[in-house]
Amino acid sequence: MKSAVEELRRADHIVVLTGAGMSVESGIAPFRGEDGLWSEFDPQEMASVTGFSKHPERCWQLFRLQIEECFGAKPHEGYEALVEMEDHGLEAVITQNVDGLHQKAGSKKVLELHGTLNELVCDSCGNRKDTEEMVGEILDGEIPYCECEAVMRPDVVLFGEPLPQNTLNEAWSAVEDTSLIISIGTSSVVQPAASLPLTAKRSGSTIMEVNVEPTQLTPRADHFLEGKAGEILPELVERLKDF
Ligand SMILES: [Zn+2]
Repeated sequence: MKSAVEELRRADHIVVLTGAGMSVESGIAPFRGEDGLWSEFDPQEMASVTGFSKHPERCWQLFRLQIEECFGAKPHEGYEALVEMEDHGLEAVITQNVDGLHQKAGSKKVLELHGTLNELVCDSCGNRKDTEEMVGEILDGEIPYCECEAVMRPDVVLFGEPLPQNTLNEAWSAVEDTSLIISIGTSSVVQPAASLPLTAKRSGSTIMEVNVEPTQLTPRADHFLEGKAGEILPELVERLKDF
């Protein structure tokens, strides 16, 4: 912990990468793992481009569940700590999560690699809406329709779709310029997020990892802090302030 705090203090450019583990601590169900959503829902049926075009109402069962969770969730103290870390060199949060909790906590620069549940998009005409505008109807079991009469969907990346290119470009350039990358609650198996810390390291950055268990990244990390993000991040920031 002490050397991690010193590392943070030395770093003038910090980038954070967050994965499902961060959201799990705020009560959001992960996709992977034993109790993950994919043990209950078939991703090809429920969250793919072809699944959505064939039977959007079935996909909306999953989207509704996710929207309900994300609108009911509160960012834990780890999120607040990342907001405070902006005063100490944190420049961007790159996230694989679609729940918008970083923005809810107040983080200024958030790059959402897999899109967001907070916006709806129409694949037919490109129309967009804030999910909040229709959240009441959605949670009552309705499916949101666009003015053009097509079914809208959350602006999340479905299976069979590429990641948003602009966001991805911003993420790559952020990690190339950083002096420290902190990987938090990510299993480090899903690409391209798994490559981001290694790219940062090749450009001279240090890797810090915060996770409840070791991952594939751990052997390459310079600092591994084992435990919950909601406990470790506030402690890091508190100690940083004491310096
Ligand atoms: Zn439309």
